[in-house]
Amino acid sequence: MKKISIIIPAYNEEESLPYLYERLTKLMDSVTNYEFEILFVNDGSKDNTLKLIKEYRQKDPRISYVDFSRNFGKEIGMIAGLDYAQGDCVIFMDADLQDPPELIPEMIKYWEEGYDDVYAQRKSRKGETWLKKFTSKMYYRVLQSTTSIEIQIDTGDFRLLDRRCVNALKKLRETDRNTKSMFSWIGYKKKAVLYDRDERVAGKTKWNYKKLIDLAIDGITSFTTSPLRISTYISIPVFIALFVYFVYVIAKCIISSVAIQAYQAIILLVLFFGGIQILLFGIIGEYLGRIFNETKNRPLYLVNEYNDKKETNE
Ligand code: UDP
Ligand code: MG
Repeated sequence: MKKISIIIPAYNEEESLPYLYERLTKLMDSVTNYEFEILFVNDGSKDNTLKLIKEYRQKDPRISYVDFSRNFGKEIGMIAGLDYAQGDCVIFMDADLQDPPELIPEMIKYWEEGYDDVYAQRKSRKGETWLKKFTSKMYYRVLQSTTSIEIQIDTGDFRLLDRRCVNALKKLRETDRNTKSMFSWIGYKKKAVLYDRDERVAGKTKWNYKKLIDLAIDGITSFTTSPLRISTYISIPVFIALFVYFVYVIAKCIISSVAIQAYQAIILLVLFFGGIQILLFGIIGEYLGRIFNETKNRPLYLVNEYNDKKETNE
């Protein structure tokens, strides 16, 4: 029998977990021709999330968990899930039931038809503000415009991945992770499944605007170096202007034999080049920061416990 691992990163989700567990068991009982593994990644929760997961595990051997030593963030939780999952395919899901488990049989169907990456695409999003929807849309636009690799629109992390995609993703071990663009980067045969995104069943979202902006900047800069090219694009017209101005000044001096009106020109030039330099330093700093993080070569996460066993880090 083929095994399907459902990976669920969870951070302070004690309120959603009972609903999630109920919906998932219903699903697993209805899909009988597969073996299931539910792999929770407890991302340093400060509430009873881990306790609940352990309770479920005692009742139900299909439940596994990885418990982080602290909060590492959802993206890292996802790679840990891939590392520990045993299935022939994996499915990523949020703990708050915004990704309906009822979609899973359809995803499995396409997987059996030979698709490697079956992703859920939102037809609509409930319970989210106009601003969040708009910024998310703009973000996809910007991300797509920086790269020639095709990015799936209106797609979260809810998707089914074949084992070979899992193995491919496990090879991408960079520290600054933007899993969405990694799904695109690996390629393979993709298929969209449409659904309506529900509201969170319980609890509060862990996102805020600062986190989202950080995620957007990380997404763009970890995926492509094209922002570095901005410097080239800006500098070309600047150098043309400089050349034209230089010729003009020299010619004027020779023809009318008048000294250059220096101070105004200097102030303007200083401001102009100062501005450009600050901008470019900012961009270079972004990448430098990334190089710094990558060269430290640290493990992506530390595990406290895996399925009741303490991790010793040997
Ligand atoms: N999550 C996590 N670590 C974090 C923040 C979130 O593992 O630091 C999990 C969270 O428990 C949930 C999923 O990531 O299962 C999505 O989080 P959330 O619902 O807060 O995000 P939203 O759906 O509002 O974008
Ligand atoms: Mg959510």
